[in-house]
Amino acid sequence: MDENMRKMGEGRLKNAAATLTANGFKTLIFSAGAEAAAYAAALPGTTAGMGGSMTARDLGLQEKLRAAGKEVVTHVAGMSPEERRAVWLKAQAADLYFASPQAVTLDGKLIFLDAYGNRGAAVIYGPKKIVLIAGINKLSRDEAEGLRRARDIAAVANNIRLKKDNPCVKTGRCSDCSSPSRICNAVTLLWKRPLASDIEVLLVNENLGY
Ligand code: SF4
Repeated sequence: MDENMRKMGEGRLKNAAATLTANGFKTLIFSAGAEAAAYAAALPGTTAGMGGSMTARDLGLQEKLRAAGKEVVTHVAGMSPEERRAVWLKAQAADLYFASPQAVTLDGKLIFLDAYGNRGAAVIYGPKKIVLIAGINKLSRDEAEGLRRARDIAAVANNIRLKKDNPCVKTGRCSDCSSPSRICNAVTLLWKRPLASDIEVLLVNENLGY
């Protein structure tokens, strides 16, 4: 990363960490994704739930968790609806749950946009510890910008990745479609830490995921 961009990222991450902490989220800053992944893999617990996360993929997180002796609880392609439901409920009760928000706002809020909502449910309540990892590319000024990022960048990129036949794949922007294969159905917005949940945010000064 360019040195000027790295310095700017440091400042933005410090700003976000301060507001996230004030909102009840324990927050750590890492200069590299590999450091964040090593920290995450060393957290205590034997089961680790997660949804489909490009940030986790970029970090090789599943492999690192398994290497640390943890059972990774996540759905895979080809599972039946019943199998998915069983995996999602098991992930909901795991020792650890890893996810990446589509946006982290500079005033300390976390935004998730999902097709099914299993991740949204898990990041509110259920797992013993919820660990949210976000690269510098996820930082947004406020809720409005964060929601725009979730729809116009993250959702469009995920539609392309998943080879969906939705209008944004062709236009490169969200048109709030009514397509049967729409993947933008449930917004989870954490203003502050839900009271019974242990949530830790790992901010990384690298671009990770969408
Ligand atoms: S709402 Fe529809 S057009 Fe917008 S990003 Fe989601 S799938 Fe694409």
